[in-house]
Amino acid sequence: MNATQRTELFARLQAANPQPTTELDYGTPFQLLIAVLLSAQATDVSVNKATKRLFADAPTPDAMAALGEERLADYIKTIGLFRTKAKNAIATCNILLARHGGEVPRTREALEALPGVGRKTANVVLNTAFGEPTIAVDTHIFRVANRTGLARGSTPLAVELKLLKFVPAPFRHDAHHWLILHGRYVCKARRPECWRCAIADLCAYPDKHGAEATHPSPPAPPRARRGAPNRVLP
Ligand code: SF4
Repeated sequence: MNATQRTELFARLQAANPQPTTELDYGTPFQLLIAVLLSAQATDVSVNKATKRLFADAPTPDAMAALGEERLADYIKTIGLFRTKAKNAIATCNILLARHGGEVPRTREALEALPGVGRKTANVVLNTAFGEPTIAVDTHIFRVANRTGLARGSTPLAVELKLLKFVPAPFRHDAHHWLILHGRYVCKARRPECWRCAIADLCAYPDKHGAEATHPSPPAPPRARRGAPNRVLP
C-alpha cells in the first residue's frame, strides 16, 4: 500500500467516525488503566458491567487498595482471570500510591513497571488518557493491518513499529481506535464483511467476501459510541 492509499484509507475511516475512542467506560486516567488491565481476554462490555459498580465504590487508587484482593475479586468475578487481575490491580494501586503520588505515570517505562501492564496497555493509556500518538496493537489491529497490507508483520510489535512509521501524521493519534473498531465490527476474524467495507478497494486481502472491485457504498461506520461519558475528566 502506498502513501496515497494510506492517506485515503484513514480519510475514509475518519469520515465514518470523526471522533473515535475506546469503548471502555472510565472517568479518570486511573480508571482507564484499571479498565484496560481488566480487559485482557475479556470483552469491553463485560468489563464495563463490572467497573460500573467498582468505580462507583472505589474510584481512586487508595480506595481500591483499601478493598484488598478478595473484595476486589468479588467486584470483577464475572471477568476471566479475575483472581490474577485482582492481584495485579491491587499491587498496581499500591505502587501508584507509593511511587507516583496516587497518579498514573505518563511514561512508558513507569507504566510497564506496573503489575499486569504490558506494552499494549501502556500504549492505550498513553494514547487515550494522555493524548500520545501511540498505537496499541491488539488482535483486531494485527489482523486488519496484515489483511489490508497497511502494515504487515508477524508480531504485534513489528506491526506497531510499521504503523508508527507509515500512518500519516494527521491520523496517528486516532489510528489505533479506527483500526480496532474496523476490525471489531467490519473486518471480523472469521468472516470479514467486505461487502460493506469502506476501504475494500484499497485492501490487499485476496479473499474478500462479496466486496465490489470499486469503492463500496455506502461506507459502514463502526458502531457509534454509547452515551456513557468515558472521556478523561479535565
Ligand atoms: S475489504 Fe474485507 S478484508 Fe479488507 S479491510 Fe475490508 S473487511 Fe477487511
